[in-house]
Amino acid sequence: MSIVIRNGTIVNATGAYPADVLVEGERIAALAAPDSGLAEQWAAGAERVIDAAGKYVVPGGIDGHTHMEMPFGGTFSADNFETGTIAAAWGGTTTIVDFAVQGKGTSVLSALDKWHSKADGNCAIDYGFHMIVSDVNDTSLKEMEACIDAGVNTFKMFMAYPGVFYATDGEILRAMQKARDTGSMIMMHAENGIAIDQLVLQALANGQTDPVQHGLTRPPELEGEATSRAIALAKVTGSPLYIVHLSAAHALDAVTQARDTGQNVFAETCPQYLFLSLEDLARPDFEGAKYVASPPLRPKEHQAELWRGLRTNDLSLVSTDHCPFCFKDQKELGRGDFSKIPNGMPGVEHRMDLLYQGVVRGEITLPRWVEISSTTPARMFGLYPRKGVIAPGADADITVYDPTAQQTISARTHHMNVDYSAYEGMELTGKVSTVLSRGRVVVDDNGFHGAAGHGRFLKRDLSQYLV
Ligand SMILES: [Zn+2]
Repeated sequence: MSIVIRNGTIVNATGAYPADVLVEGERIAALAAPDSGLAEQWAAGAERVIDAAGKYVVPGGIDGHTHMEMPFGGTFSADNFETGTIAAAWGGTTTIVDFAVQGKGTSVLSALDKWHSKADGNCAIDYGFHMIVSDVNDTSLKEMEACIDAGVNTFKMFMAYPGVFYATDGEILRAMQKARDTGSMIMMHAENGIAIDQLVLQALANGQTDPVQHGLTRPPELEGEATSRAIALAKVTGSPLYIVHLSAAHALDAVTQARDTGQNVFAETCPQYLFLSLEDLARPDFEGAKYVASPPLRPKEHQAELWRGLRTNDLSLVSTDHCPFCFKDQKELGRGDFSKIPNGMPGVEHRMDLLYQGVVRGEITLPRWVEISSTTPARMFGLYPRKGVIAPGADADITVYDPTAQQTISARTHHMNVDYSAYEGMELTGKVSTVLSRGRVVVDDNGFHGAAGHGRFLKRDLSQYLV
Protein backbone atom coordinates (compact mmCIF):
# COMPACT_ATOMS: atom_id res chain seq x y z
CA MET A 1 0.00 0.00 0.00
CA SER A 2 1.58 3.31 -1.01
CA ILE A 3 0.31 6.83 -0.42
CA VAL A 4 1.76 10.00 -1.89
CA ILE A 5 1.21 13.39 -0.28
CA ARG A 6 1.71 15.96 -3.04
CA ASN A 7 2.34 19.70 -3.32
CA GLY A 8 2.52 20.40 0.38
CA THR A 9 5.07 22.25 2.49
CA ILE A 10 6.95 19.96 4.87
CA VAL A 11 7.47 21.54 8.25
CA ASN A 12 10.01 19.98 10.60
CA ALA A 13 11.57 21.51 13.70
CA THR A 14 14.52 22.53 11.51
CA GLY A 15 12.55 24.42 8.88
CA ALA A 16 9.98 24.33 6.09
CA TYR A 17 10.36 23.38 2.42
CA PRO A 18 8.19 22.06 -0.41
CA ALA A 19 8.41 18.30 -0.98
CA ASP A 20 6.26 15.30 -1.87
CA VAL A 21 6.13 12.42 0.59
CA LEU A 22 6.05 8.75 -0.36
CA VAL A 23 4.51 6.49 2.28
CA GLU A 24 4.99 2.75 1.90
CA GLY A 25 3.33 0.52 4.44
CA GLU A 26 3.74 2.02 7.88
CA ARG A 27 6.70 4.26 7.12
CA ILE A 28 7.84 7.28 5.20
CA ALA A 29 9.89 5.81 2.34
CA ALA A 30 11.23 8.93 0.66
CA LEU A 31 10.82 12.64 -0.06
CA ALA A 32 11.12 14.17 -3.52
CA ALA A 33 11.18 17.65 -5.01
CA PRO A 34 7.65 18.51 -6.14
CA ASP A 35 7.09 18.12 -9.88
CA SER A 36 10.30 16.09 -10.21
CA GLY A 37 10.19 13.02 -12.41
CA LEU A 38 10.43 10.89 -9.31
CA ALA A 39 7.42 12.56 -7.70
CA GLU A 40 5.42 12.14 -10.92
CA GLN A 41 6.33 8.45 -10.97
CA TRP A 42 5.26 7.94 -7.35
CA ALA A 43 1.94 9.64 -7.93
CA ALA A 44 1.24 7.56 -11.04
CA GLY A 45 1.84 4.32 -9.13
CA ALA A 46 0.27 5.22 -5.78
CA GLU A 47 -2.88 3.68 -4.43
CA ARG A 48 -3.84 7.03 -3.00
CA VAL A 49 -2.70 10.57 -3.70
CA ILE A 50 -3.42 13.25 -1.11
CA ASP A 51 -3.28 16.79 -2.46
CA ALA A 52 -1.69 19.04 0.14
CA ALA A 53 -1.43 22.19 -1.99
CA GLY A 54 -1.47 25.23 0.29
CA LYS A 55 -1.11 23.01 3.35
CA TYR A 56 1.57 22.07 5.84
CA VAL A 57 2.74 18.47 6.15
CA VAL A 58 3.93 18.03 9.72
CA PRO A 59 4.94 15.12 11.95
CA GLY A 60 1.92 13.91 13.91
CA GLY A 61 1.57 15.51 17.30
CA ILE A 62 2.90 13.80 20.43
CA ASP A 63 1.00 14.57 23.60
CA GLY A 64 3.31 13.56 26.42
CA HIS A 65 0.83 14.03 29.25
CA THR A 66 -2.62 12.45 29.25
CA HIS A 67 -4.83 10.73 31.82
CA MET A 68 -7.32 8.39 30.18
CA GLU A 69 -9.67 6.55 32.53
CA MET A 70 -7.76 7.86 35.48
CA PRO A 71 -9.14 7.37 39.01
CA PHE A 72 -9.50 10.64 40.94
CA GLY A 73 -11.54 11.42 44.02
CA GLY A 74 -13.91 8.47 43.67
CA THR A 75 -14.55 8.93 39.95
CA PHE A 76 -12.71 8.33 36.64
CA SER A 77 -11.66 10.77 33.91
CA ALA A 78 -14.34 10.62 31.23
CA ASP A 79 -12.27 9.55 28.22
CA ASN A 80 -11.14 5.97 27.98
CA PHE A 81 -8.24 4.96 25.75
CA GLU A 82 -10.53 4.53 22.75
CA THR A 83 -12.48 7.79 22.92
CA GLY A 84 -9.42 9.76 24.03
CA THR A 85 -7.12 8.54 21.28
CA ILE A 86 -9.80 9.02 18.61
CA ALA A 87 -10.23 12.62 19.80
CA ALA A 88 -6.45 13.04 19.73
CA ALA A 89 -6.33 11.82 16.12
CA TRP A 90 -9.02 14.31 15.11
CA GLY A 91 -6.74 17.02 16.40
CA GLY A 92 -3.64 15.83 14.53
CA THR A 93 -2.04 14.03 17.47
CA THR A 94 -0.77 10.54 16.62
CA THR A 95 0.97 9.53 19.85
CA ILE A 96 0.07 9.92 23.50
CA VAL A 97 2.09 9.09 26.58
CA ASP A 98 -0.32 8.35 29.41
CA PHE A 99 0.32 7.98 33.12
CA ALA A 100 0.02 4.58 34.77
CA VAL A 101 -0.66 4.99 38.47
CA GLN A 102 0.97 3.08 41.31
CA GLY A 103 -1.41 3.57 44.24
CA LYS A 104 -0.14 3.61 47.82
CA GLY A 105 0.47 0.07 49.03
CA THR A 106 0.49 -1.45 45.54
CA SER A 107 3.32 -2.48 43.25
CA VAL A 108 4.72 -0.53 40.32
CA LEU A 109 4.64 -3.54 38.01
CA SER A 110 1.05 -4.42 38.81
CA ALA A 111 0.15 -0.81 37.96
CA LEU A 112 1.90 -1.22 34.62
CA ASP A 113 -0.05 -4.43 33.95
CA LYS A 114 -3.28 -2.68 34.86
CA TRP A 115 -2.63 0.19 32.45
CA HIS A 116 -1.76 -2.25 29.67
CA SER A 117 -5.05 -4.01 30.23
CA LYS A 118 -6.90 -0.69 29.94
CA ALA A 119 -5.05 0.49 26.83
CA ASP A 120 -3.96 -2.54 24.84
CA GLY A 121 -6.28 -3.19 21.89
CA ASN A 122 -8.21 0.00 22.56
CA CYS A 123 -6.05 2.81 21.21
CA ALA A 124 -6.56 4.34 17.78
CA ILE A 125 -3.03 5.81 17.74
CA ASP A 126 0.31 4.72 19.20
CA TYR A 127 0.80 5.12 22.92
CA GLY A 128 3.36 4.84 25.67
CA PHE A 129 3.31 5.15 29.43
CA HIS A 130 4.95 7.10 32.18
CA MET A 131 4.73 5.65 35.70
CA ILE A 132 3.37 7.55 38.69
CA VAL A 133 5.33 6.36 41.72
CA SER A 134 3.38 7.21 44.86
CA ASP A 135 4.87 4.64 47.22
CA VAL A 136 8.65 4.74 47.44
CA ASN A 137 10.15 1.72 49.18
CA ASP A 138 12.86 -0.86 48.49
CA THR A 139 10.52 -2.95 46.34
CA SER A 140 9.18 -0.13 44.20
CA LEU A 141 12.66 1.29 43.69
CA LYS A 142 13.78 -2.12 42.45
CA GLU A 143 10.69 -2.39 40.25
CA MET A 144 11.62 0.88 38.54
CA GLU A 145 14.42 -1.08 36.83
CA ALA A 146 12.00 -3.64 35.37
CA CYS A 147 9.76 -0.78 34.31
CA ILE A 148 12.63 0.80 32.37
CA ASP A 149 13.30 -2.53 30.63
CA ALA A 150 9.63 -2.58 29.66
CA GLY A 151 9.96 0.80 27.91
CA VAL A 152 8.59 2.96 30.70
CA ASN A 153 11.45 5.12 31.93
CA THR A 154 9.88 8.34 33.16
CA PHE A 155 8.64 8.39 36.75
CA LYS A 156 6.24 11.01 38.01
CA MET A 157 6.14 12.11 41.62
CA PHE A 158 4.01 14.58 43.52
CA MET A 159 4.91 17.32 45.96
CA ALA A 160 1.14 17.98 46.09
CA TYR A 161 -1.84 15.90 47.29
CA PRO A 162 -0.76 14.82 50.81
CA GLY A 163 -2.28 11.47 51.73
CA VAL A 164 -2.84 10.51 48.08
CA PHE A 165 0.17 10.83 45.76
CA TYR A 166 2.37 13.03 47.94
CA ALA A 167 6.03 12.05 48.35
CA THR A 168 8.33 13.44 51.04
CA ASP A 169 11.60 15.08 50.08
CA GLY A 170 13.38 11.96 51.34
CA GLU A 171 11.31 9.71 49.09
CA ILE A 172 11.89 12.01 46.14
CA LEU A 173 15.62 11.93 46.87
CA ARG A 174 15.70 8.14 46.84
CA ALA A 175 13.76 7.90 43.57
CA MET A 176 16.03 10.52 42.02
CA GLN A 177 19.08 8.49 43.00
CA LYS A 178 17.53 5.53 41.19
CA ALA A 179 16.86 7.73 38.15
CA ARG A 180 20.48 8.91 38.15
CA ASP A 181 21.76 5.32 38.38
CA THR A 182 19.55 4.05 35.55
CA GLY A 183 19.58 7.03 33.16
CA SER A 184 15.85 7.48 33.59
CA MET A 185 14.03 10.69 34.46
CA ILE A 186 11.90 12.00 37.31
CA MET A 187 8.83 14.05 36.39
CA MET A 188 7.51 16.34 39.08
CA HIS A 189 4.15 17.80 39.99
CA ALA A 190 5.69 20.76 41.79
CA GLU A 191 3.30 22.43 44.21
CA ASN A 192 3.79 22.64 47.98
CA GLY A 193 0.85 20.43 48.95
CA ILE A 194 1.43 20.65 52.70
CA ALA A 195 1.01 24.44 52.73
CA ILE A 196 -1.79 24.33 50.15
CA ASP A 197 -3.85 21.92 52.25
CA GLN A 198 -3.79 24.37 55.16
CA LEU A 199 -4.95 27.22 52.92
CA VAL A 200 -7.76 25.00 51.61
CA LEU A 201 -8.92 24.10 55.13
CA GLN A 202 -8.85 27.76 56.15
CA ALA A 203 -10.87 28.85 53.11
CA LEU A 204 -13.51 26.19 53.73
CA ALA A 205 -13.68 27.13 57.44
CA ASN A 206 -14.36 30.72 56.34
CA GLY A 207 -17.23 29.57 54.13
CA GLN A 208 -15.30 30.31 50.93
CA THR A 209 -16.46 27.36 48.84
CA ASP A 210 -16.59 28.62 45.21
CA PRO A 211 -14.35 27.19 42.46
CA VAL A 212 -12.20 30.33 42.36
CA GLN A 213 -10.90 29.35 45.80
CA HIS A 214 -9.16 26.44 44.10
CA GLY A 215 -6.91 29.03 42.44
CA LEU A 216 -6.57 31.34 45.42
CA THR A 217 -5.49 28.55 47.79
CA ARG A 218 -2.75 27.38 45.41
CA PRO A 219 -0.71 30.57 44.97
CA PRO A 220 2.03 30.68 42.32
CA GLU A 221 4.67 31.18 45.02
CA LEU A 222 4.01 27.64 46.23
CA GLU A 223 4.57 26.29 42.73
CA GLY A 224 7.77 28.33 42.51
CA GLU A 225 8.97 27.06 45.88
CA ALA A 226 8.29 23.41 45.06
CA THR A 227 9.94 23.76 41.66
CA SER A 228 13.07 25.22 43.27
CA ARG A 229 13.11 22.43 45.86
CA ALA A 230 12.77 19.75 43.18
CA ILE A 231 15.60 21.36 41.23
CA ALA A 232 17.79 21.36 44.35
CA LEU A 233 17.08 17.68 44.98
CA ALA A 234 17.86 16.91 41.33
CA LYS A 235 21.12 18.83 41.60
CA VAL A 236 22.18 16.98 44.75
CA THR A 237 21.36 13.57 43.26
CA GLY A 238 22.39 14.24 39.65
CA SER A 239 19.01 13.15 38.34
CA PRO A 240 17.41 14.62 35.23
CA LEU A 241 14.20 16.47 36.16
CA TYR A 242 11.13 17.24 34.10
CA ILE A 243 8.58 19.65 35.58
CA VAL A 244 5.09 18.77 34.39
CA HIS A 245 2.36 21.35 33.65
CA LEU A 246 4.35 24.43 34.64
CA SER A 247 1.86 27.27 35.04
CA ALA A 248 3.50 30.13 36.93
CA ALA A 249 6.20 32.69 36.15
CA HIS A 250 7.72 31.91 39.56
CA ALA A 251 8.32 28.30 38.57
CA LEU A 252 9.61 29.30 35.14
CA ASP A 253 12.20 31.57 36.78
CA ALA A 254 13.52 28.61 38.77
CA VAL A 255 13.68 26.38 35.68
CA THR A 256 15.38 29.11 33.63
CA GLN A 257 18.02 29.61 36.30
CA ALA A 258 18.74 25.88 36.55
CA ARG A 259 19.00 25.54 32.79
CA ASP A 260 21.39 28.47 32.64
CA THR A 261 23.75 26.49 34.85
CA GLY A 262 23.57 23.48 32.51
CA GLN A 263 21.46 21.28 34.76
CA ASN A 264 19.28 18.63 33.09
CA VAL A 265 16.05 20.42 34.03
CA PHE A 266 13.15 20.63 31.59
CA ALA A 267 9.57 21.78 31.74
CA GLU A 268 6.35 21.56 29.81
CA THR A 269 3.41 23.88 29.95
CA CYS A 270 -0.15 23.25 28.75
CA PRO A 271 -2.52 25.14 26.43
CA GLN A 272 -4.84 26.03 29.32
CA TYR A 273 -2.08 28.08 30.96
CA LEU A 274 -1.38 29.87 27.68
CA PHE A 275 -4.98 30.71 26.82
CA LEU A 276 -7.10 30.64 30.00
CA SER A 277 -6.75 32.42 33.34
CA LEU A 278 -7.93 32.81 36.92
CA GLU A 279 -10.83 34.85 35.51
CA ASP A 280 -12.23 31.63 34.05
CA LEU A 281 -12.02 29.94 37.46
CA ALA A 282 -14.01 32.89 38.84
CA ARG A 283 -16.93 32.43 36.42
CA PRO A 284 -20.25 32.61 38.32
CA ASP A 285 -22.83 29.86 39.00
CA PHE A 286 -20.25 27.12 39.52
CA GLU A 287 -19.13 27.49 35.86
CA GLY A 288 -15.61 27.97 37.25
CA ALA A 289 -15.58 24.25 38.10
CA LYS A 290 -14.97 23.53 34.41
CA TYR A 291 -11.57 25.17 34.82
CA VAL A 292 -10.41 23.39 37.98
CA ALA A 293 -7.08 21.68 37.36
CA SER A 294 -3.83 21.61 39.32
CA PRO A 295 -1.78 23.73 39.22
CA PRO A 296 -4.64 26.20 38.84
CA LEU A 297 -5.14 28.70 36.03
CA ARG A 298 -3.10 31.80 36.83
CA PRO A 299 -3.68 35.55 36.52
CA LYS A 300 -3.34 36.62 32.87
CA GLU A 301 0.07 38.23 33.27
CA HIS A 302 1.70 34.79 33.55
CA GLN A 303 0.76 33.98 29.93
CA ALA A 304 3.30 36.33 28.34
CA GLU A 305 6.03 34.78 30.48
CA LEU A 306 5.07 31.28 29.35
CA TRP A 307 5.17 32.28 25.68
CA ARG A 308 8.59 33.82 26.31
CA GLY A 309 9.69 30.52 27.88
CA LEU A 310 8.48 28.62 24.82
CA ARG A 311 10.49 30.89 22.55
CA THR A 312 13.70 30.59 24.57
CA ASN A 313 13.34 26.83 25.19
CA ASP A 314 13.15 27.27 28.96
CA LEU A 315 9.83 25.55 28.31
CA SER A 316 10.73 22.62 26.09
CA LEU A 317 7.35 21.45 24.93
CA VAL A 318 3.58 21.58 25.38
CA SER A 319 1.42 18.70 26.59
CA THR A 320 -2.24 18.83 27.58
CA ASP A 321 -2.57 17.12 30.96
CA HIS A 322 -5.82 15.91 29.36
CA CYS A 323 -7.94 14.70 32.26
CA PRO A 324 -11.59 15.36 31.46
CA PHE A 325 -14.44 15.27 33.92
CA CYS A 326 -18.00 15.97 32.83
CA PHE A 327 -19.61 19.08 34.28
CA LYS A 328 -22.73 17.12 35.09
CA ASP A 329 -22.31 14.52 37.83
CA GLN A 330 -18.50 14.79 38.00
CA LYS A 331 -17.50 18.45 38.42
CA GLU A 332 -20.78 18.81 40.32
CA LEU A 333 -19.37 16.61 43.10
CA GLY A 334 -17.74 19.83 44.33
CA ARG A 335 -20.80 22.08 44.57
CA GLY A 336 -20.55 23.77 47.95
CA ASP A 337 -16.96 22.56 48.47
CA PHE A 338 -14.39 23.48 45.83
CA SER A 339 -11.92 20.94 47.25
CA LYS A 340 -14.19 18.12 46.06
CA ILE A 341 -14.22 19.22 42.41
CA PRO A 342 -12.29 16.59 40.39
CA ASN A 343 -9.03 18.17 39.18
CA GLY A 344 -8.60 18.14 35.44
CA MET A 345 -9.59 19.58 32.09
CA PRO A 346 -10.16 18.19 28.59
CA GLY A 347 -7.67 19.20 25.90
CA VAL A 348 -6.12 16.33 23.92
CA GLU A 349 -8.06 17.25 20.76
CA HIS A 350 -7.09 20.92 20.50
CA ARG A 351 -3.42 21.14 21.44
CA MET A 352 -2.09 21.42 17.87
CA ASP A 353 -4.77 23.96 16.91
CA LEU A 354 -4.31 26.11 20.00
CA LEU A 355 -0.54 26.14 19.65
CA TYR A 356 -0.93 27.08 16.00
CA GLN A 357 -2.60 30.28 17.22
CA GLY A 358 0.82 31.09 18.66
CA VAL A 359 2.13 31.08 15.07
CA VAL A 360 -0.83 33.16 13.87
CA ARG A 361 -0.24 35.72 16.63
CA GLY A 362 3.52 35.86 16.13
CA GLU A 363 4.40 34.31 19.51
CA ILE A 364 6.34 31.39 17.99
CA THR A 365 7.67 30.45 14.55
CA LEU A 366 6.20 27.75 12.33
CA PRO A 367 9.09 25.28 12.92
CA ARG A 368 8.93 25.96 16.66
CA TRP A 369 5.25 24.95 16.57
CA VAL A 370 6.32 21.54 15.25
CA GLU A 371 9.21 21.33 17.68
CA ILE A 372 7.16 21.92 20.85
CA SER A 373 4.24 19.76 19.74
CA SER A 374 6.06 16.79 18.19
CA THR A 375 9.84 16.80 17.75
CA THR A 376 10.89 17.66 21.29
CA PRO A 377 8.32 15.32 22.89
CA ALA A 378 9.76 12.56 20.66
CA ARG A 379 13.32 13.31 21.79
CA MET A 380 12.41 13.97 25.41
CA PHE A 381 10.61 10.64 25.70
CA GLY A 382 12.90 8.43 23.64
CA LEU A 383 10.86 8.08 20.45
CA TYR A 384 13.05 9.93 17.94
CA PRO A 385 13.52 9.53 14.95
CA ARG A 386 10.77 6.96 14.72
CA LYS A 387 8.39 9.77 15.70
CA GLY A 388 8.62 13.54 15.61
CA VAL A 389 10.01 14.12 12.12
CA ILE A 390 9.04 13.89 8.47
CA ALA A 391 12.00 11.94 7.12
CA PRO A 392 12.67 8.64 5.33
CA GLY A 393 12.48 5.73 7.75
CA ALA A 394 10.24 7.47 10.26
CA ASP A 395 6.82 6.09 11.08
CA ALA A 396 4.26 7.61 8.71
CA ASP A 397 2.55 9.59 11.46
CA ILE A 398 1.66 12.64 9.43
CA THR A 399 -0.72 15.54 9.90
CA VAL A 400 -1.71 17.59 6.88
CA TYR A 401 -2.67 20.99 8.25
CA ASP A 402 -4.67 23.72 6.52
CA PRO A 403 -3.26 27.01 7.85
CA THR A 404 -6.09 29.19 6.55
CA ALA A 405 -9.21 27.16 7.45
CA GLN A 406 -11.38 28.70 10.17
CA GLN A 407 -13.04 26.75 12.96
CA THR A 408 -14.91 27.38 16.19
CA ILE A 409 -14.31 25.11 19.17
CA SER A 410 -17.44 23.68 20.74
CA ALA A 411 -18.51 20.73 22.86
CA ARG A 412 -21.21 20.14 20.23
CA THR A 413 -18.60 19.25 17.61
CA HIS A 414 -15.60 17.97 19.53
CA HIS A 415 -14.89 14.25 19.86
CA MET A 416 -13.75 14.03 23.47
CA ASN A 417 -16.18 12.20 25.73
CA VAL A 418 -16.96 15.21 27.88
CA ASP A 419 -19.97 17.51 28.03
CA TYR A 420 -18.21 20.86 27.86
CA SER A 421 -15.28 22.58 26.20
CA ALA A 422 -12.99 24.88 28.16
CA TYR A 423 -12.61 26.84 24.89
CA GLU A 424 -16.30 26.99 23.91
CA GLY A 425 -16.87 29.51 21.13
CA MET A 426 -13.18 30.25 20.58
CA GLU A 427 -12.49 31.02 16.90
CA LEU A 428 -9.32 29.57 15.47
CA THR A 429 -7.34 29.92 12.27
CA GLY A 430 -5.99 26.59 11.02
CA LYS A 431 -7.42 23.11 11.03
CA VAL A 432 -6.34 19.52 10.57
CA SER A 433 -7.29 18.18 7.16
CA THR A 434 -5.75 14.67 6.98
CA VAL A 435 -4.05 12.48 9.57
CA LEU A 436 -2.02 9.32 9.02
CA SER A 437 -1.13 6.97 11.84
CA ARG A 438 1.63 4.57 10.79
CA GLY A 439 0.62 4.86 7.15
CA ARG A 440 -3.10 4.51 7.66
CA VAL A 441 -5.35 7.47 6.91
CA VAL A 442 -7.28 7.79 10.15
CA VAL A 443 -8.85 11.22 9.60
CA ASP A 444 -9.70 13.10 6.41
CA ASP A 445 -12.43 15.44 5.12
CA ASN A 446 -14.87 12.55 5.11
CA GLY A 447 -14.40 11.67 8.75
CA PHE A 448 -12.69 9.13 10.94
CA HIS A 449 -11.34 5.96 9.33
CA GLY A 450 -9.19 4.57 12.12
CA ALA A 451 -9.97 1.84 14.59
CA ALA A 452 -9.45 1.05 18.22
CA GLY A 453 -6.61 -1.44 18.33
CA HIS A 454 -4.66 0.13 15.47
CA GLY A 455 -2.49 1.93 18.02
CA ARG A 456 0.54 0.04 19.31
CA PHE A 457 2.37 0.26 22.60
CA LEU A 458 5.65 2.13 22.26
CA LYS A 459 8.56 0.73 24.19
CA ARG A 460 10.47 3.94 24.68
CA ASP A 461 14.23 4.48 24.78
CA LEU A 462 15.83 6.66 27.44
CA SER A 463 15.52 10.39 26.89
CA GLN A 464 17.47 11.70 23.90
CA TYR A 465 17.29 15.27 25.14
CA LEU A 466 19.74 15.32 28.03
CA VAL A 467 22.67 17.74 27.98
ZN1 LIG B 1 -1.33 15.22 34.94
